[in-house]
Amino acid sequence: MNHKQSYKRIAIKVGSNVLTGTDGKLDIGRISHLVEQINRVRELGIDVVLVSSGAVAAGRAVLSETNKMDAVSARQLWSAVGQVKLINIYAELFAKHGLYCAQVLTTKENFSDRRHYLNMKNCISTMLDNNVIPIVNENDTISVTELMFTDNDELSGLISSMMGCQALIILSNVDGIYDGNPNEETSSVIPEIIASSRNYERYILMQKSGFGRGGMHTKYSVARKIALEGIDVFIANGTRNDIITGILNEEDIPFTRFQPNGKKLKSSKKWLAHSDSFAKGVAIINEGASDALFDMKANSLLLIGVTALDGFFKKGDVIRIQDESGNQLGLGKSQYNSDEAKELIGKKARKPLIYYDYMFLYE
Ligand code: GLU
Repeated sequence: MNHKQSYKRIAIKVGSNVLTGTDGKLDIGRISHLVEQINRVRELGIDVVLVSSGAVAAGRAVLSETNKMDAVSARQLWSAVGQVKLINIYAELFAKHGLYCAQVLTTKENFSDRRHYLNMKNCISTMLDNNVIPIVNENDTISVTELMFTDNDELSGLISSMMGCQALIILSNVDGIYDGNPNEETSSVIPEIIASSRNYERYILMQKSGFGRGGMHTKYSVARKIALEGIDVFIANGTRNDIITGILNEEDIPFTRFQPNGKKLKSSKKWLAHSDSFAKGVAIINEGASDALFDMKANSLLLIGVTALDGFFKKGDVIRIQDESGNQLGLGKSQYNSDEAKELIGKKARKPLIYYDYMFLYE
């Protein structure tokens, strides 16, 4: 089946290096062409959530001569000025197609709280229900240093998972993942990567390109993680004409597709899959418990299989699951606070530490 027939909703991430020209300024012609493609995708009956970078680059292009500032202040100033410019350009261009777009600025912290997460999901769903194109970016004015996403690639992964998209298209200024050094003629783009295999890691070169934070390394790890959740992921060159529609029509153009895992994750598990950095504690489990979790049956994690607990957490907080050699096995929502749970270590208890439905296990 042709991709466009199987998709109802997709996320598209556009990097700063697609949106800006060699002079560092926003490339209106390029943005206009992207908007035109998004319009065509929507005409096929597919919802689009756009994750767009470019705020910092746009701000820097107009305010390059500034008073002395540290790097954090400069990023805050440029993103605040640039985001206004960027969203105005999108609004004008979408209006030409009779469409409204809306701005969603978010932070990593918003994903750590399930209530904020659901509010954000509800807000974007409402936009889509009303034919409004959500344009998401990180709120760079408040997310600094450790609170930041690695880059917008990471954000686009979270958004596509949260919004139940069938596909995520990550656009930068390279054609995809190469089987060697992209600058050498003998290298070519790998058309398909099987997400569950680790065989491709040797090809990932640490190549940073122009503006923006993300390199191919983060694109690869985000793409793999998202594909393992059952979502089709494409890494492609956003500076090529008709790239988005070309991917959906399965045309013979260069891009890398991550073949997803067959099984789709439930929505409560999707949130957990991305909650590692919010975990408040660790449960160390014995071999028997680990075997039970990875069994074909849907087993919950019982306190009888727990050998130690670290950290202070409340009931409902996310905790990591580790084996006795320190391997990370997964994440789950604790049904006890840490004090209660610590008293019941190794014992038979009334309810499990983590219910199966609120547990995400790594492959
Ligand atoms: N949020 C940043 C911006 O809009 C970009 C982050 C990234 O490069 O991934 O400029």
